[in-house]
Amino acid sequence: MIESAVAVGDLPDASGAVDVTDELLAACVHCGFCIPVCPTWDILREENDSPRGRLYLMRAEAEGRVQADGAFSLHVGRCLGCRACESVCPAGVPFGHLLERARARIPQRPVAHWWERWMLEALTTPRRARVTYAVARFLRNSGVADILGRLLPGTAGRALRLLSASRPTFGTTRAAAVGIPATRLEVQDGEALMAETQAYVLLSGCVMEGLFGHVHDATRRTLARAGYREVEAPGQVCCGALHAHAGLLEEAREQARHNIRVFESVDCEWIVTDSAGCGAGLKDYPAWLTDDPDWRDRAEALAARVKDVTEILADAVTNSDGTLGSSPGAELPGGRVGYDAPCHLHHAQGVRDDPLVLLRSLPGFEVEALPSSDRCCGGAGMYNLVQPDLAALVLAPKLGEIEHGRYDWIATGNPGCIMYLGAGLMRVGDRTLVVHPVELVDHAWNDQQEEPGE
Ligand code: SF4
Ligand code: SF4
Repeated sequence: MIESAVAVGDLPDASGAVDVTDELLAACVHCGFCIPVCPTWDILREENDSPRGRLYLMRAEAEGRVQADGAFSLHVGRCLGCRACESVCPAGVPFGHLLERARARIPQRPVAHWWERWMLEALTTPRRARVTYAVARFLRNSGVADILGRLLPGTAGRALRLLSASRPTFGTTRAAAVGIPATRLEVQDGEALMAETQAYVLLSGCVMEGLFGHVHDATRRTLARAGYREVEAPGQVCCGALHAHAGLLEEAREQARHNIRVFESVDCEWIVTDSAGCGAGLKDYPAWLTDDPDWRDRAEALAARVKDVTEILADAVTNSDGTLGSSPGAELPGGRVGYDAPCHLHHAQGVRDDPLVLLRSLPGFEVEALPSSDRCCGGAGMYNLVQPDLAALVLAPKLGEIEHGRYDWIATGNPGCIMYLGAGLMRVGDRTLVVHPVELVDHAWNDQQEEPGE
């Protein structure tokens, strides 16, 4: 990953009228290296829908030459926030941070899609989220989401297909079903592999906790097997990434401050995430809080402790001399795996090889990165619901790579990508399963027993 020429600590005040420009926008040398990697430019072939064009617009808006609505809103709104442009930028322009600040400048953005705001609250506000996810799990687990998702047109059908695609591929394990904390499970076949047991906190998240509890369970089991000990951190809230992407930066900052307080109160080495978007959000806390001297240093200290679960497990596998592997008697699913890198892992966090190292360590699997692995799938948080036509065009080439039974599994470490890829495959009648990498690792490492009747 190309190092940023502009340190996060140098980010200007986002709350001011024009501060978003200044040295960060000035860092762009207009070379255009970012243009060919931009999915929206690739489809629309319009300079204003390229990273360089959007940076021109941001500067023009900040200098008062264009209004924050109109063209600025249109082209900034079409950006996926995939940050592929950052990976190739020789000047280290932090496009993702500039985008969040630009979106916060669009006056109508929070109400442009009233249901976007409504969904954000339903998914992330703790009391409402409990109801939302209880209803969502009922619709998903009963099969209603699957049936209606295939029948209903428009946004409702799209949302139900996304929900259906979040279902657990391997069912609910006995340990999870009876509520045994996975960290108390005995490690099978021997000892914890680390010289010292390191403690970690798992970021609960909102969508992850509500719909991907099975991925959290797999994360806990595999980390226990690798010798890590979970400690509780009650009181966590949503990481704030969805709010930041929607231009609600002040709300994202409040969530960041709350989580920093919570994690500072816990004695552990690592804050582990199994959602690329949430991990990128936590690592972006210093950028969100850069203009707040009371919080900036605390945000940096927290960000330094954040790791994606695949980073930790790949490290454990690399150092295990082959002792970390499948249990005798375990039923390995095996098969061909196509890895699709989440943008917020690959581009935003720079975690590129670890998921592949980890997956390739599993016996019985043939693993390759999809040809378009480093290209956005189009999911991009709630983008696929707000910009469904453009998102579908971004997804189409990837579906072409997956279709026709080329893979048994698609592995990708972000809930939005799992759901959008899964929903896209459902729409075209492809039965390839989309899972989180840690689910495959868990299944290979643990001789799991399914609950009777599941
Ligand atoms: S690659 Fe970087 S410096 Fe070059 S045009 Fe794109 S954002 Fe500007
Ligand atoms: S974040 Fe992605 S979609 Fe947006 S300008 Fe950069 S490459 Fe293009």
